[in-house]
This record gives sequence, structure tokens and C-alpha cells, in this order.
Amino acid sequence: MPTYQKVKGTMDVFGHYARVKEKVSNVLKAMAELYAYSPFETPMMESTDLFQRGSGETTDIVEKQMYTFLDKGGRSLTLRPEYTAGVARAIVENKLYATSDLPIKAYYEGPLFRYERPGLGRYRQFTQFGVECVGEDSAWLDAETLLLAVESLYFLGFRKVKAKINSLGGKASRDAYRKALVEYFRPHVDKMCQDCQRRIDTNPLRLLDCKVPGDKEIAKDAPSILDYLVDEDRERFEKVKAYLTMLGVDFEVDSGLVRGLDYYSGLVFEISIAGEKDYGAVLGGGHYDDLLGELGGPSLPGVGFAIGIERLIASYCDEGLDKDADPGLDVYLMPIGKEAFDAAFTLLVETRLNGYSAEMPAKEGKLNSYFKKAERAGARYALIFGDEELKAGKAQLKDLNKKEQIEIDLTDLEHELEKHIETEGEHDDHE
Ligand code: AMP
Repeated sequence: MPTYQKVKGTMDVFGHYARVKEKVSNVLKAMAELYAYSPFETPMMESTDLFQRGSGETTDIVEKQMYTFLDKGGRSLTLRPEYTAGVARAIVENKLYATSDLPIKAYYEGPLFRYERPGLGRYRQFTQFGVECVGEDSAWLDAETLLLAVESLYFLGFRKVKAKINSLGGKASRDAYRKALVEYFRPHVDKMCQDCQRRIDTNPLRLLDCKVPGDKEIAKDAPSILDYLVDEDRERFEKVKAYLTMLGVDFEVDSGLVRGLDYYSGLVFEISIAGEKDYGAVLGGGHYDDLLGELGGPSLPGVGFAIGIERLIASYCDEGLDKDADPGLDVYLMPIGKEAFDAAFTLLVETRLNGYSAEMPAKEGKLNSYFKKAERAGARYALIFGDEELKAGKAQLKDLNKKEQIEIDLTDLEHELEKHIETEGEHDDHE
């Protein structure tokens, strides 16, 4: 028999991990809603040229890591390696800038695909949750976006969050900086990797981002973008920093931060979570000036970030924040005897209809085995009844945590459950 395995760099999601993923996702969505964002979805595949844009992109992600294929109609399609381009495309294509109040504030979550070497916190299919705030240019929106990122992590329970920020400036600043970089790197470039040798002419900023150890060493002493910001860009960066300070966001300026995609201008940032293992940045984002314009729309700016959900979950579990992720069951039904077992189906349905999660054994068994099943299912209550009790319309409701048991009236199950069962939500309120 052939055996089948998942594709390298992908993962199956089930059990506790699936619960944690769901919980983390709910918190992130709730936070985005608090900041007046709305849900947004784009297709998982796009035309390849959306990402390549006439080879305008010279990043590893676009040049080397895309899952690109021809469909049966001969179209070149790519499984999205990032979200922002797709969201910007959707805004332009649907002319949302004309019909919506600006800024458009969109949040999204879903899988991305990059052909990378799998490793700690690095997959070929991974999940991002992110936001894009498009259509208005303001230092406040830049700061608010980073605040949302930091607050979301705080709300999830993280306390050791480190935000690094930088400004890549606008076109004028970057042109001046590019010139300075070429001057700096030119005498060293022969010793650098093939990519760097090529990119010194196409996109010298990328030389700062090279992962090759020797190249990193050379890049260490490269000039800083912050010395090349024109007044307007410098003032903008100062304003963003002032807002962040006012908002109590802890940040550090890192002039070497350039991010892995070319559309960024102005503010860029990355956040990592300090912990026992180094998963790299959990979140990255920044401001972009002309992505919509490049895609054939009006020249409207945007700012956004994306969180890597798998990295987030890894840190979440390392910190022990995942303990309450499994909601468990409200009630486990334990019928003893044939008649009780048959009647249990109706009671099970009734319990669920009243809003309590409930389960019963699939086959008749011993009370002992029922208790084991209830425990594994994380049940908080057991509803126990035998044939005789059933005839009398009675059952025992046992609180499995407190080990207390009371007799209830099965003919009025709805009220009895309401009276005696403390659901997870209520339980939290009491804490
Ligand atoms: P980026 O889209 O490259 O700015 O990345 C944003 C975030 O996505 C990173 O900070 C990571 O948390 C996550 N991420 C990026 N690439 C991967 C990957 N290959 N596997 C898992 N997470 C990733």
C-alpha cells in the first residue's frame, strides 16, 4: 500500500493546536473590530504579475519563493505569498476608494505560500492575520496601526514584546540613500553573494537584508537611511515616534530594518516576542505610498501589518498562555440500561437545543468507562440516569469538578439546566 504524507513545510491542524489557533484568531479579530476594522477576503491565487509587477519586485519572496504554475487555460497563477498586494488589488478592482469612506480598514486571515527552507517557525504554507488601513495619509494612522499590533499581543497575554521601527522615507529620501548605499557597497560587492551582486544595481536596499553571514558583516557598517531622510520624512518619523511615546508603546529604532517587500516607504516595523526560543519576528508591517497607484488605482497610501499565526502560537504555548484554549463540554450524558440509552438521544438533542454543548457515548457501556470519556472530553457535568429513574422522570446531575451531585426533574430539563449549570462564559465572569 502506498503511504501518503503531507507536503514538506505544511502542517495538519487538529486537537489542542486547532483550539489555540481558533482562540488566538478570535482575539485578533475582536481587537481589529475594536479599532474599527472590517473583515476582508481575497482569493488564495492571483495572477502572477500582481506580485511581479513587471519584475519591479526584487525581493527573495517574489524572485525565489513563489508557488507559480500554469492553469489548464495557460494562465500563470501564483499562490499568494503575501496579502497586501491582493488586498490592494481588490480595493482598486472594486473601486472601494470611491464607494467607501476613507480610510478603508480591512482585516484578514488565511494561508500564504512561500517556497522556503522549513525550520523553526518557518513553513511553506503558513497563516497570517493582518490589517490594512488604506486611503488616508497620517502619522496618527501609522502609529495607530503599530498600537493595534502591540495591543493585540498584550491582550493575548504577552508581556515581553519588542517593537523595532525604522523609516524608509519617501522617494526623494530613498533615491539619495540608494546612491549612498551603492557607493558604500561597490568596493565590497565582489566578495558578496550573487544576489547582492545583481541587486546592487536593481535594488541596493536589499543588500541590507541579505542573510549570508559574510554579507551581513559588510552590511553592518553601511550608511543609515535615517541620515538621508529629507526634512518632510524626518518630521513625519518624529511625529510617529511622538505619538507612539504618547500611547505608551515601547519601541526601539533600528536603522537596518528594511522588511522583505519592496512597496514599503516611510514607517516600517517588526515585533518579536522574547522567550526561550527565537522564532524570529512574529509580526511585520509598515506604510506604503504608491502600491495602489502601481496597480492602476489612484495614488493612495496605506499602512498595515501581518502576524505569523504559527509563530504566534509557538510563543503562546511556550508562555503557557494556551491552558484555557479548550472549551470542554457542558454536559456528558450517562444512560445506564437499554431504555435509558434509547431515551438519551432525545435528552441529548434537548440539551444542545438549550445551548449547552453535550455528548453521550456512542455505545452502551459501563459507568466507569463513561466517566473516563467525560473526563477526556473535558465535561463539567454528568447527567446520569438508569431505566428506573427515567420512568420516574429523574436524573442525577453531577458537577464533575466539585464532585457534588443533585437530583433533577427530567420533565423540565430546560429549567433544571438553567438553574444548575454554570457554563464556561458565566464561570469566567465570576473570576
Ligand atoms: P512578512 O509577510 O514577510 O512581512 O512576514 C510577516 C510575518 O509572517 C512574519 O513576522 C512571520 O511571523 C510570518 N512568516 C513569514 N514567513 C513565514 C514562514 N515561512 N513560515 C511561518 N511564518 C512566516
